[in-house]
Amino acid sequence: MTSQNDSGYAIYNNTPNFHPVNSIYENRLRQFIDKHGQYKDFNVPKFYDQERIWNTAGDDTSAGFVNLGVYAVPHLDRPLFRDVVPHAEFTPASKGQSFGPSWKTFWFQVAICIPSKWIEAQPEEIHFEWDCGNEGLAYSEDGTTLKAFTGGERIELALPKHLWVKEQTHTFYIEVACNGMFGNGRNGSDIAPPDENRWFRLATADLVLPNLEARRLGVDFWILSDAARELPSDSWQKHKARTVCNQIMNAFNPEDVASVATCREIAQEMLGKDINSDAVYHNHLKNSPQAVEVVGIGNCHIDTAWLWPFDETKRKVVRSWTTQLAIMEKYPEYIFVASQAQQFKWLKQYHPETFDRVKQKYREQQFFPIGGSWVEHDTNIPNGESLVRQFLVGQRFFLENFGFQSDCFWLPDTFGYSSQIPQLCRLANIDKFLTQKLSWNNINNFPNTTFNWIALDGSQVLVHMPPANTYTADANFGDVMRSLHNHKNLENDHQGMLLYGKGDGGGGPSEEMLEKLRRCRGLSNTVGLVPTVQVGATVDDFFASVLERTNNGKDLVGWNGELYFEFHRGTYTSQADIKKFMRLGEVKLHDLEYVASFASLRGYTYPRKELEALWEDLLLCQFHDVLPGSSIEDVYKDAKPMLRNVIDRCDELLKKALTHIGGGKGAKPAIEDVTFVNTLPWARSEVVESSPEKALVYVASDESGSVSTAQADSIKYPATVSRTSGSTFVLDNQRLRATLSNGILVSLYDQLNDRELIDTQTGTEGKDFVSADLVGGNQFVVFEDTPLSWQAWDTELFSLMKYKPLAYPTTFEIYDSGPLRSSVKASYKISEHSSMDVVISLDGLQSLEGDLSFLRFHCDVDWHEECKFLKVQFPTTLRTSLEASYETQYGITHRPTHWNTSWDVAKFEVINHKFADLSEFNYGCSVVNNGKYGFSIHGNVMRLSLLRAPKQPDAHADMGRHVFEYGIYPHRGALGMDTVKLGYNFNYRMDETLMLSGPRITEAAGLLNSISLESRDQSLILSHVKRAEDDADVTTHDLPLQYEGHKSLILRVYEALGGSSRGILNISGLNVAKIVKTNLLEEDLEEVTVESTKDGATAKISLRGFEVATYRVVLK
Ligand SMILES: [Zn+2]
Repeated sequence: MTSQNDSGYAIYNNTPNFHPVNSIYENRLRQFIDKHGQYKDFNVPKFYDQERIWNTAGDDTSAGFVNLGVYAVPHLDRPLFRDVVPHAEFTPASKGQSFGPSWKTFWFQVAICIPSKWIEAQPEEIHFEWDCGNEGLAYSEDGTTLKAFTGGERIELALPKHLWVKEQTHTFYIEVACNGMFGNGRNGSDIAPPDENRWFRLATADLVLPNLEARRLGVDFWILSDAARELPSDSWQKHKARTVCNQIMNAFNPEDVASVATCREIAQEMLGKDINSDAVYHNHLKNSPQAVEVVGIGNCHIDTAWLWPFDETKRKVVRSWTTQLAIMEKYPEYIFVASQAQQFKWLKQYHPETFDRVKQKYREQQFFPIGGSWVEHDTNIPNGESLVRQFLVGQRFFLENFGFQSDCFWLPDTFGYSSQIPQLCRLANIDKFLTQKLSWNNINNFPNTTFNWIALDGSQVLVHMPPANTYTADANFGDVMRSLHNHKNLENDHQGMLLYGKGDGGGGPSEEMLEKLRRCRGLSNTVGLVPTVQVGATVDDFFASVLERTNNGKDLVGWNGELYFEFHRGTYTSQADIKKFMRLGEVKLHDLEYVASFASLRGYTYPRKELEALWEDLLLCQFHDVLPGSSIEDVYKDAKPMLRNVIDRCDELLKKALTHIGGGKGAKPAIEDVTFVNTLPWARSEVVESSPEKALVYVASDESGSVSTAQADSIKYPATVSRTSGSTFVLDNQRLRATLSNGILVSLYDQLNDRELIDTQTGTEGKDFVSADLVGGNQFVVFEDTPLSWQAWDTELFSLMKYKPLAYPTTFEIYDSGPLRSSVKASYKISEHSSMDVVISLDGLQSLEGDLSFLRFHCDVDWHEECKFLKVQFPTTLRTSLEASYETQYGITHRPTHWNTSWDVAKFEVINHKFADLSEFNYGCSVVNNGKYGFSIHGNVMRLSLLRAPKQPDAHADMGRHVFEYGIYPHRGALGMDTVKLGYNFNYRMDETLMLSGPRITEAAGLLNSISLESRDQSLILSHVKRAEDDADVTTHDLPLQYEGHKSLILRVYEALGGSSRGILNISGLNVAKIVKTNLLEEDLEEVTVESTKDGATAKISLRGFEVATYRVVLK
């Protein structure tokens, strides 16, 4: 008798199987790799170490194997290895000791002796494990950086083989920084202000002989068990993964380490045989570019300052990148990208040997600098020229040090993206853009992943937003799945980029992440269903293949205009000083480069090196947590003096340049003899304060160059002030008549156009406005500002529902009484702690039509509030159905004045630069400012955001004195060039730093007026003049010169209102060789036809609407 038939299928069944209960068998899987669980001794973590030498205080087993010495660096200094280690006196240290307080630095001397029997066993690796709960960096005895540590998560150092010598002690060093990856936030909250007294316990300082096969089994199982949990229930692969995992657990014998090999063999059923090397990415038919669905790119987002100061970032860079260099040695497939030229420059400066290793790994095509910009900057607040300089300075650094320019703008983490970025990118040789921050939108879900982003002028860049919605993925199974499945444009393309690696505080990928990705690919190769992930493809490969599949991008969806970020709207206002200094710094650099460029043609030495340093500081402060106001207090203690220095140095250098061309020796002229330099490209006529005396003078100028003065008594339309009743005053200059009652602007009447601008009716029904008298213009409103989280970052929609209008001023009186300026002054008590003086003034005019007349508000605030938001509002008589206009870099961005859809609601607070405007077709109103960026216009109310009071992450943000100005300008017609010009005039002040004196004033004025731009529509603006980077007499670079022996001027011109426009460049008194249109990097595009005139040359230029053009005027 036989128990089976010929086919082998048994006749009798005496051991029936049961159908497993899936959920129980799935939940069981967590036990197998849980290092801390109740069953760890029955599972694979039991075998992770073959042996470990515990260096516990008083524990003899470590004696002679691991001996520690420590040196505490005095104060909070951060010295380099070469400055500290050779001289330091190390005292004995041991595990269990604590080190602190916050931000302090310790250097440890680690003397190790590896047990002879370990070495004899010839293992693959021997480890030193270090965990002091904070950040650290290991250096070899000669100061070479080895690998970084992060408390709790990155604790292993594979000891270099030259240390594996029997019975010998070797020494290396560890620099320890008393901060976590995310600084030192109080009570365990990263974004709380720092705890200044945090201590870190040295928990681990062990020699370890690891069992690498057991650890690999751990990773095998991790990915398989993720697959068992996360694959769709209707896939056979999910059930197979669960079965294989259970088979592994059943085969594992905690008493027999050899069972590890059996278990790994079982795992191969699903993972394949290639997962132990990069072969997994090569040895498979699916490895064609078409089949790759996910490209894994290692990166390490290092915030250039945030919850730690700039000086700590310098160390985060060397720590993070050293670790990546070590990983590259072990994983040939590994591709890593790092952005921000500034961080590379710091590495070069402080760790030149590590910088050389980075360059070597770039040559080997593993370590890729990327991004093209100086830092990963905010794009909301910097002005146009700043955005240009981010690329100019950044790309030149990459070119000079690595021999290439990046073609991908890398900005994963900034808080919104202004509408001209694509154009500026294209002009900086960049045609791709990577970001992902819009995935944080808290109202609408951004609809695209891979798309064309189109600037105001029509220029486009190819954008990818990684579908896993993060740039700090842990490279888990789920990240790979999401990188394909969350892709929102699968009809066009099927490839997503997976950005993995610890970030924000630095760190980057770990070896474990690379191991996980090999297994994800192994799974895909063997059983399919899991997206095919590729490690080894570059960012260039990724974008090239997208273009290949999408008809060079023509098939992709387009998105026009700004990428508005529906979050972090408080960053337009937080840290008011840094924003004010930024605006002023930009103005000062403009003025200095303008004057110094011309002066350098007449024997003045162009201060190129200093300008470079000043620009680098300004650009650094534009980092996406510094300028937006989301950093800790210590960062602003560095950044504010840095920007103040930019302003002060510009003033000093400007004075030198002006003295050089004017021939003046600095004797102060009488007020009526004062001559100011107008650095703007149009005629100006206005009342100017010749500080510090504050004497007023009316000046009128031709285009650029010097201006003449007019006497106070000769003004044609003087400004007057009169009291019409107890607390009502009227300011009048025959063009505008402003009536102010108790500080409120109850009427602003345009006498020339017979228009009343202020609406005193809307809002009177609102219960919160206690009196109808309080409704009108210049109404201050204090909103409660308690966002859900992220105080410095966010202001929330619900804040608009809870507010108090500021009550009557405590005093209200006449301040100036003409003829050049008339004003009234209102003093307010904001609360028990805060107060404000506001001077409201109107200037006299020489021409009713020609002079720009507006009402000016000068505020001096003492601000001590908690979670309050101060704004000022102007209800107007204007009514438009859809949109208001806001100046943004090199153009105008329109936003809704209504709440039709959730996309409109999301824009309840938006960015403006020098002005915002609400206009009907024949009449409108602009509000100009000198350093405020938050604005909103809804219905007929225009509202400028002034001051916030967040308490995290800087407990003292914005507390103290603030001085700022804004103005309201009613105008005939829709938004036009008069508003654009007023925005400039309001910020580019003619003050004592621009006074010209000396015997050669006329000659100097001629020189400063040598270039002018006429355009019929006036909408072309010559916004910046500088010397060319590559002129032999100014360059500081080793890059090849374009025009040996020539001097040249760079002119930046843009079209400001959005229409094609022609103009004529007039150059007089200079000998022009040729004029070339260039890109932003000052590389030639095309020569412009030049016509000679008797003392110079002219050239016709033509720009598209909102085009930014750069011309190089080469002089003979
Ligand atoms: Zn960031």
